[in-house]
Amino acid sequence: MSKTIIKNAHVISPGIDIEGATVLIEGDKIKSVSKKALSEKGVDTVVDVRGKYLMPGFIDVHTHGALTYDFCDSDPKAIYELARGKLEEGVTTFLPTTLTVSHEELAQAARNLKAYAEDGMKYAKTPGIHLEGPFINVKCCGAQNPKFVRKPEVKEVKEIAKIYPVKLISYAVETEGGAKFAKDCLKIGVVPSCGHTGAKLKDLMGAYKNGLRHMTHFCNQMTPLHHREIGMVGAGFLIEDLNTEVICDKIHLCPDMLKLIFTRRSLAHIQMITDSLRCSHCKDGYAFTMGGLEVKLEGGEARLVKGGNLAGSTLWMGNGLKNVHEVTGIPLKDLVRTTSWNQAIELGWGDELGKVEKGFKADLVVLDKKTWKPAAVFVDGAQRI
Ligand SMILES: [Zn+2]
Repeated sequence: MSKTIIKNAHVISPGIDIEGATVLIEGDKIKSVSKKALSEKGVDTVVDVRGKYLMPGFIDVHTHGALTYDFCDSDPKAIYELARGKLEEGVTTFLPTTLTVSHEELAQAARNLKAYAEDGMKYAKTPGIHLEGPFINVKCCGAQNPKFVRKPEVKEVKEIAKIYPVKLISYAVETEGGAKFAKDCLKIGVVPSCGHTGAKLKDLMGAYKNGLRHMTHFCNQMTPLHHREIGMVGAGFLIEDLNTEVICDKIHLCPDMLKLIFTRRSLAHIQMITDSLRCSHCKDGYAFTMGGLEVKLEGGEARLVKGGNLAGSTLWMGNGLKNVHEVTGIPLKDLVRTTSWNQAIELGWGDELGKVEKGFKADLVVLDKKTWKPAAVFVDGAQRI
């Protein structure tokens, strides 16, 4: 079994902040984390990360694209490029996320993903798909194409899952059959999430009673808080155990809203996401079309050329963590559960992913303290960056 030592690490893990730590990896698992220097005799690889953070590899449950590619492109190269981009960001596990497109396009994305998995997943790992739509509210499409919106149908989810596992589905709970759909999804091992929704609190409660506990990009494309109908934003604050995805780029939500969420909601039920589009990792001026609409990247913001609406994010997880840390002052050892461990718990891997602790998978990111960019990334114990 291969042995690796990572030394002089500033380990940040849920509830843990240790400077000058030594982490011993055996095979694909963490064998020990300690303040003591270890003998390097018989060790295959020694990596010195002095002055840098060592954190659990990020888990991004909501990401569409990067490096000019989108998961829903028919090109089989798209998933490779998305996974390569994610790995560069320090993401070790992710759920490639679909757009509201035709059934055949969804099936093709799943087939491309299956081929990537069978090829050994050489960049970031992906255990399944996040279907964002097509069962959304046509009035809350955002950058999704209303032409392909349809009614919730578990049969369609099952058909995609036959090709490659589906782990998460974002849909509008107020649509016909929306409450029952939550139960049907859970029965087949898919986490149902409320998103792109015009729901009132009572609409959500039907699905909540059937087990729904997730909200897609909290505050974005959902009913705002009003003092006589608290909407989905109000529901997120009222109901503690809803796992809310949050885009922490300070653009989709202003810094004050980030502060409100991270200081008033339980950190155990917040999940940072990127919701990145194909323009992620691209330079200013990059232009593309989405659902027939022209989008241009300027100042790191992807906006529709006509009207100027936001069309998606170019965020990296490390920057999201930095933003929230700076805005709220919450210690990293408390915040870091929102970049991996919470996601792992909800998806059923809470005892092996999301912590830098003995017995956990050695999926790790080394972050530069000044730039918050990854200096090294380990997947299953092997250094991939
Ligand atoms: Zn999205």
